[in-house]
Amino acid sequence: MSRPPRPRIYLETYGCQMNEADTGMMAGLLASSGWERIDRPELADVILLNTCAVRERAEERVAGRVRHLARLKRYRPDLRIGLAGCMAQHLGRDLLARLPELDLLAGPDSYRRLADLLGRSDEGPLVDLALDKKERYEDLSPSPEAGLHAWVPIMRGCDRFCTFCVVPHVRGREKSLPAERIVGSVRDLVASGTVAVTLLGQTVNSYRDGAVDFAGLLERIARIPGLLRIRFTSPHPADFTRSFFAVMAEHRNLCKQIHLPVQSGSTRILEAMKRGHTREEFLALVGEIRTVLPDVSLTTDLIVGFPSETIEDYESTLSLLEEVRFDGAFMFRYSPRPGTYAVRKQPDDVPDEEKARRLHGLIELQERISAERYARWVGREVEVLVEGPSRRDRSCARGRSDDNKTVILPAEGARPGEIATVRIARATAHTLIAAGVPGPETDDEESGLTLLAD
Ligand code: SF4
Repeated sequence: MSRPPRPRIYLETYGCQMNEADTGMMAGLLASSGWERIDRPELADVILLNTCAVRERAEERVAGRVRHLARLKRYRPDLRIGLAGCMAQHLGRDLLARLPELDLLAGPDSYRRLADLLGRSDEGPLVDLALDKKERYEDLSPSPEAGLHAWVPIMRGCDRFCTFCVVPHVRGREKSLPAERIVGSVRDLVASGTVAVTLLGQTVNSYRDGAVDFAGLLERIARIPGLLRIRFTSPHPADFTRSFFAVMAEHRNLCKQIHLPVQSGSTRILEAMKRGHTREEFLALVGEIRTVLPDVSLTTDLIVGFPSETIEDYESTLSLLEEVRFDGAFMFRYSPRPGTYAVRKQPDDVPDEEKARRLHGLIELQERISAERYARWVGREVEVLVEGPSRRDRSCARGRSDDNKTVILPAEGARPGEIATVRIARATAHTLIAAGVPGPETDDEESGLTLLAD
């Protein structure tokens, strides 16, 4: 007797690395309930988009995608489409009126019930948006589909409530996972072939499990044999400790790269955002980091056009970029998010054209600085963790330097998962190119370090 076919799900991820990790976790949970994950939406029984609510444009993109995918229902009336994650949590049941094509809404704390929900999706639109103060998914494998690299959530939620940010409202308050569980999961990942991990949390360095703080956790993970590289994202500037610097300096496999969101270079705007630090404190932190880790690569997040931002505030951000000289930045114009303090109390008073002009100026400056920061590697030796073939030229390999720069290198002898030492021959604002790589048409392989966004 032939077995009934397994139900098929197509998963698509939007937004941050935490969502990438959550999608992997959902896939693992669903696989254990008999679901098969496929990569063609037109063949799926259920399409589930794991979404982001941090920016309005991300929500618009998802809405467009839902409408596009819903055309498949003409030929497949039994097809079900759902939204998971922050956008579902943020907009809630209103989404069902805006996107009547939807059959399911699942918030970030509902993933254990997902298989059950999907099994009932014939009952009409199903909604599970309950936030759970205790849900940490601590017993689940962080990356059931991990390869050479794995995303490893170590905490969920955020307690900071920056005035522009929707995260604490949709992901709930900060919850750290047990240290023993995290270390055990990373050991298991290494045993199954993973050589690099990125620890994830909304304010990753405020991690605490009893006596184990972020530095203590990093130290334990750094001692796991076979783990070549460890990164983390995103720390909060106000949460660094002395012991963190000591651990970073001691362990070679803790990558010398820190993504350090600053958002603005103006103390007045930082205070309006309730970021918890001033421009001067941020600069002092950068000085301390560079004293301990001289070759560290720093990247950041920036917002222009925050309510009440004047030209002087904006110029303070430009001068901060000149002073710090980040290797890359994610740059955005402010967009008000419903439910936040800023929407209620801080009028969105910078005109759109002015926000666009300021963003353009910021991008132009950061591109110049990025090009200069990348150029300083030319002529130097770099250790590259090989990831696979180059996207532009299959005769070359692609990998990542310790400080998280994409490196193109000759394919010969470059084996995925191993470290290759190469000499850098040239650089763009986004990529390092090793000696022996033909060019220049293969040069600009996207690195993700400078994202020129909305
Ligand atoms: S620290 Fe601020 S910006 Fe970051 S997730 Fe928390 S509230 Fe949002």
